[in-house]
Amino acid sequence: MIVIQHRSSTVFQENVYIVKNNNFALIIDPGDHPEKITARIEKENCKVQGILATHGHADHILAASRLCEIYSCPFIMSRIDSKWLAELKNMCEHFQIPYYGTPAIDIDITLKNMLELGDFSFDILHTPGHTKGSVCFLFDHILFTGDTLFHHSIGRTDLPGGDMQELQGSIKDKLLSLPDDTRIYPGHLKMTTIGEERSHNPFIVL
Ligand SMILES: [Zn+2]
Repeated sequence: MIVIQHRSSTVFQENVYIVKNNNFALIIDPGDHPEKITARIEKENCKVQGILATHGHADHILAASRLCEIYSCPFIMSRIDSKWLAELKNMCEHFQIPYYGTPAIDIDITLKNMLELGDFSFDILHTPGHTKGSVCFLFDHILFTGDTLFHHSIGRTDLPGGDMQELQGSIKDKLLSLPDDTRIYPGHLKMTTIGEERSHNPFIVL
């Protein structure tokens, strides 16, 4: 399995990830213009089997609806964050970015701890705090943290549904129990590891 990182061209500079297994792929947090992501998929020459979102914020789901249409694949997110889906159009207007449609949740992962999807199988770690429905996706030693945990930082908690104590608790209970060599692919900023964050992240409470 390989991970391809694509930094979005929007003002948010969000990290879109393509997880590739032979010629199959999942797209995680598609927060860029759809044509930028489809161009990348074309280059990789793979078949997309699903679109995953770590949470419902606009900068993580911007292209989800369009990509599900193009690839005829399901959209996977926790329904707990569905109120953010209803906000997507307004958010696009507010930030003056094009609106590409609102995705419908095809597979609700609120009560799931793992998912088998196409050629992929992965764990779902429920990590509320940045939003109520935030999750992290774990593929063996590879962790996608969305806006829960960043390199030497954590997600903001000043938006509706945000809670600093809850976020720090999620990180401590769900993420720091993973091995130090777990590679972290966050929703913003650069890659890191659990070991690096355990030692150097000033926001982590042990
Ligand atoms: Zn967010």
